[in-house]
Amino acid sequence: VQLRRFLAAVGMTYDRHLGMAAEGQRILRLAPELLAQHVSSTIRIIGSGGKGIATLTPWVGFFDLDSGSTPEQGLYVVYLFAEDLKTVTLSLNQGVTTPSRALGPSAGRDKLRANAAAVRDELGNTALFGLRSSQSLRSHGQRQLAYEAGTIAALEYVLERLPSEPTLVRDLARFLDLCKISVNSRQNAPRGADHGPGRSFERAPDTNRAFPQTLGRLLQVAVVEISADRWEVLEERLSGATLAQIALARGVTRERIRQVEAHATRQFSTILAGAKTLTTAWDDLAARCAVSEATLLDPHLDSTLAPEDQMHFGQLLLSMRGFSRLRGFSRTDVPGWWTSDQSRFRARAATAADYAPMEVSDFSQWAETAGLPANLPWKQIFPGHAGPIVWDSTVEAWVHVRGSLRDAAYIALTRRGSPMDGREIAGAVGAKSTRNFEEQLRRDIRYSQMRPSGFWKLADWNLNESKYTSTLEAAVAVLRDEGPQTAAQWARAVAARYPVSYAAVNQCLAHEEIGRWPDGRIDLVERGAVHADDTEPDRPPEIVTAPDLRVILIYRDVDDELLRGSGLGVSRYLTWVLGLRRAPRSRVFEVPGYGEIEIRRLIHGSTISSLRRFASELGAQMGCRLAIRLDLEEHVAAVGLACENHGHSGRTVLGDIDAPPPNPDQETD
Ligand SMILES: [Zn+2]
Repeated sequence: VQLRRFLAAVGMTYDRHLGMAAEGQRILRLAPELLAQHVSSTIRIIGSGGKGIATLTPWVGFFDLDSGSTPEQGLYVVYLFAEDLKTVTLSLNQGVTTPSRALGPSAGRDKLRANAAAVRDELGNTALFGLRSSQSLRSHGQRQLAYEAGTIAALEYVLERLPSEPTLVRDLARFLDLCKISVNSRQNAPRGADHGPGRSFERAPDTNRAFPQTLGRLLQVAVVEISADRWEVLEERLSGATLAQIALARGVTRERIRQVEAHATRQFSTILAGAKTLTTAWDDLAARCAVSEATLLDPHLDSTLAPEDQMHFGQLLLSMRGFSRLRGFSRTDVPGWWTSDQSRFRARAATAADYAPMEVSDFSQWAETAGLPANLPWKQIFPGHAGPIVWDSTVEAWVHVRGSLRDAAYIALTRRGSPMDGREIAGAVGAKSTRNFEEQLRRDIRYSQMRPSGFWKLADWNLNESKYTSTLEAAVAVLRDEGPQTAAQWARAVAARYPVSYAAVNQCLAHEEIGRWPDGRIDLVERGAVHADDTEPDRPPEIVTAPDLRVILIYRDVDDELLRGSGLGVSRYLTWVLGLRRAPRSRVFEVPGYGEIEIRRLIHGSTISSLRRFASELGAQMGCRLAIRLDLEEHVAAVGLACENHGHSGRTVLGDIDAPPPNPDQETD
């Protein structure tokens, strides 16, 4: 049955003058069955109108089987009817028998009062909010005085005006909860301390031990204390509704709504004032510009209660405490985040944004430097084009809203770490027109274009002091740094580091350190790529080889270049046929009595060492022709005149001429 009907029925039908036969006695004895629906199965219900003789004050008690409490000892919840049966008081009470017997009525009551005070200390003001610490049974009976003394917390109801059933149910649940908390805290508390007389019946009160001020507990208090109507008005106000809007919807005056709100605010403030753990934690966090709900609310959730209601309640309390929902630059809320100072947050976020363009990881650092949590949902804070910066999903970095493409180019160049072709940057940042984009870069002092390659670099890159001294060095470095590449990638990357033509880069393929993978990509031989031998080049007419390849004859006209005395370029056929298939390689041929001739296979081509002194020795002049004869078996060479109709006198051959020179017109294949 309803609590309300039960209590009313006992109040109306109990009559101690009728002794144990009164209807009220019967109803009390049925309490375990009639009220079972209101409590859990671990609670034992006892209704009593006295044992053998009708009591002055009938009662219905609730005893937690887990704690082993009984009417004689321990803590329990009880409805006690006053002797005049005008009121019934719900209370958290204690077994009164033991102290009374041990100490006598008066000292026993002192002991009970001390015990009750100790329990109240433990529970704390918040848990006891709105409850009385005493009750009056309007009776002179010793037992009744002991009940009064043992009262820890109480709520008195006038039987003629009992509150609604939901209120009674809620109140009973609250008291059972208080009882459970108190019993648990006693069971978990350290035992064995030597308690002085007259203090606590189980242990000394620990004033430092705060009642668990979880959001769940506060919510339970608030639900009891604050009417649904006030609660609703407050929530509507906090979510932005005006007094007029709320008043209109309810058909009352604005002034009335203002009063309701003021009253509700006072009540919430009182609840918050009792929750020092919570408010201290929040006040400490208020200095931060942005705080997550996980930080603000999660530590204060009561694990035994549903989190949703507690979170919602916590959000309400945060609003009361001066926090507001964090707003991004588009003025929309950032879910899950709060601030106590919206404008300070914006200022700090703008400070961090100043460092754009930047990578995600850099932004986190700048945010922390600016005093903001790194894990804020930045894309919600800087959405679209509402703030100073925007997330560029093409380069995946933060860029300024103005000049976003140029900022993106900065990211692209920084990541590459070396100059880039204009078309490549335009592609990387998603620019539609390479020409227009390069025009923008040209006007931005952060960038400069290199000549003659036309590659773009960051202005502060000091590429004049290139660390490379040759194309090959840059070519090897690119492969070492960036791994296997296609010929085109490789040529671009090398040219970006060391501005030379793509053809010059391709010549590096001749170097023995550089090879190819089976898929054609170029890589370092030391990593397993295979160096490709030269393919046989076409034989130029000025080089003649004997069929057995023992002798090679090279014809060379005497010209300015030869007479200047530097090394001379020769056909790659010569080095190929000499077996110089990789660069760098060389072979030396002695011209007995006159010196040496060196044939070299270099990265950039094949050369023969200076022929000037031989020309001079032979008296050759501009327009004459030299023949150089190489003996591949003996490693010796001879140099002779091969002019026709010049009528040279004197020596016409230097060196070994044992073998006859082959005919220059012969075909060797
Ligand atoms: Zn000549």
